[in-house]
Amino acid sequence: MKILIVEDEQLLRHHLNVRLSDIGHIVSAVATAKEALQQAIANNYDIAIIDIGLPGGTDGLELIRQLRANDYTFPILILTARGSWQDKVEGLSTGADDYVVKPFQFEELEARLNVLNRRASGIVQPILTAGNLRLDLNRKRAFCGDNPLQLTAYEYRLLEYLMRHHQQVVEKERLMEQLYKDEEERDSNVIEVLVGRLRRKLETQCGIQPIETVRGQGYLFKEPCH
Ligand code: CA
Repeated sequence: MKILIVEDEQLLRHHLNVRLSDIGHIVSAVATAKEALQQAIANNYDIAIIDIGLPGGTDGLELIRQLRANDYTFPILILTARGSWQDKVEGLSTGADDYVVKPFQFEELEARLNVLNRRASGIVQPILTAGNLRLDLNRKRAFCGDNPLQLTAYEYRLLEYLMRHHQQVVEKERLMEQLYKDEEERDSNVIEVLVGRLRRKLETQCGIQPIETVRGQGYLFKEPCH
């Protein structure tokens, strides 16, 4: 993971940096909110560890507010002083995802980071849907409601490509490049046959006709996908 640490206590900052780097993470460790914002702009972090009590006029809570206001959505773990439950509550309501109370065991911090990271990866579902039609992008399977659609590998790839480029005209040439690595295998008649088969299956198994032919240009998956 790429981790941003914002902690003004030098010893703790150093310790976290070394321990997290040792187990293979890429770490940036800074002491102030100002530096943290600069780092966030310059890097793509997977997670941030932010101490609430920071010097320099901008504390950890304000830093979290600013990060969230600027659409940084990575998980944030806050470090709070023992007994300061207000910090925890305020931190979580400001946009942090979890907290660790100082002093803490490194193993606890590590476990919490892993949970946050797993949860964050789960937010982006590897599922593409258009109404009733659903693609499981990991398993490369299509469903209509809960029923699996019987598609060949080529039909599936064709459908996935069109859905990924929904509401855009996709040229036949581009589809051929997606389906066939070798140029000599590419044949626009084959694409027409495949699209025809795919359409029939979508219609008979799912009752939908989402693929339009745009004469002389290509194909259009007309339903919005998300
Ligand atoms: Ca502090």
